[in-house]
Amino acid sequence: MYRFAPSPTGDMHIGNLRAAIFNYILAKQSGKKFILRIEDTDQDRNISGTDSEIQEILTKFGIKWDALYYQSKNLKFHREFANKLLIDKKAFCCFCTQDDLSAKKDLAKEQNRAYRYDGTCEKLSDLEVLNETREFVVRMKKPNHTMKFTDVIKGDLNFDLDDVDSFVIMRSDKTPTYNFACAIDDMLMDISFVVRGEDHVSNTPKQDWIRECLGYEKSIKYAHLPIILNKDGKKMSKREKDSSVKNLLDIGYLPEAILNYLVLLGNKAPVEIFTIKEAIKWFDIKNISKSPAKFDIDKLNQINREHIRLADSQRLSEIFDIDEKFSDLIKFYTQEASLIPEIKAKILAIFGKKNIPDEFKKSVEILRNEILKMQNFADFDDFKSTLMKNSNLKGKMFFMSLRILLTNTTHGPELCELYPLIKTYLKEIVSI
Ligand code: GLU
Repeated sequence: MYRFAPSPTGDMHIGNLRAAIFNYILAKQSGKKFILRIEDTDQDRNISGTDSEIQEILTKFGIKWDALYYQSKNLKFHREFANKLLIDKKAFCCFCTQDDLSAKKDLAKEQNRAYRYDGTCEKLSDLEVLNETREFVVRMKKPNHTMKFTDVIKGDLNFDLDDVDSFVIMRSDKTPTYNFACAIDDMLMDISFVVRGEDHVSNTPKQDWIRECLGYEKSIKYAHLPIILNKDGKKMSKREKDSSVKNLLDIGYLPEAILNYLVLLGNKAPVEIFTIKEAIKWFDIKNISKSPAKFDIDKLNQINREHIRLADSQRLSEIFDIDEKFSDLIKFYTQEASLIPEIKAKILAIFGKKNIPDEFKKSVEILRNEILKMQNFADFDDFKSTLMKNSNLKGKMFFMSLRILLTNTTHGPELCELYPLIKTYLKEIVSI
């Protein structure tokens, strides 16, 4: 069983989407199920509506889930398992206040050592715990052995007892922390392989330790994906616009192009341009590089153009929200632009009102009248020579005026290449 487990706490980051895609591909390759689990146990950080946004985004990318869970619905299991850990003395109640802990953290900082929980409440007797009236959290006891796991991308990893530490599993409001809810749910949902971001590497021994203490014997395989860097080589933060999937879609990238780019990133792919169906045939998680991948917007632009060229008329009409008859024009303009709105603007300019600079007003008018009188020509050269003759215009004056009249700009693709795509609408184009 595979899962994608986003927290509904903000815009989906491209790193999250990449994890979703890989989990989905692996599920398809192995014939196993793919679960979408919304990790909504941190009430303070949840943003309402983000859960539906996640589902809409995945749907746009063709990622279908076999089951949808809200982690908060599993709260009773989280509490039951926390109880079991307390009874089995694998976990303990901790009454330390935030002030106590902050003072100890500050001291550790002053002394230049890493802060670790000092075991104060672990030493309390059962009677002392029973007599306590203060609020408490539940902490796991530290592991009694080095925690190890073999990451499919990073290889063998070892963690000291102190790396795992006596971490909190239940908050004082009796809700589980991320590590606890995730460890329990992965166990209950029989997850066999987890692909997620590198920022979770240090959580894995904690989650394994929780399950080990509960006597869970199945092992879960892990692949942690290297972070994505921006063009300056820094970690792409959530605030960076290019890191938001929603923003990339809004500014005019096709889902199929973003998906292609994210699968290609830091990967040894046999081809450069592909669909998710094709990727399912050859994708191998072991080919993902250990080193961080750099986000390259130029490459994404190129891939976007390629996917526009590959799309059929129906798909283009859907994403450009424009008549299917303009498909060839859309593809033609990928030589000039990469994003949906940029390309669309060029097409609308052909069929819209023209802004004619003063110096061309007269000549454009002449061409307009001549074209309206002329028959339709299949061939640009015939059209051009007849129009030149009839209008008595030559050289720059002729070509510039014609370009303005047809495209509303003074620069752009070769008119002889554009002509075959617009010749049927010529009279309509010049009369606006
Ligand atoms: N909710 C966590 C996140 O969005 C899930 C990480 C995981 O896949 O375990 O980062």
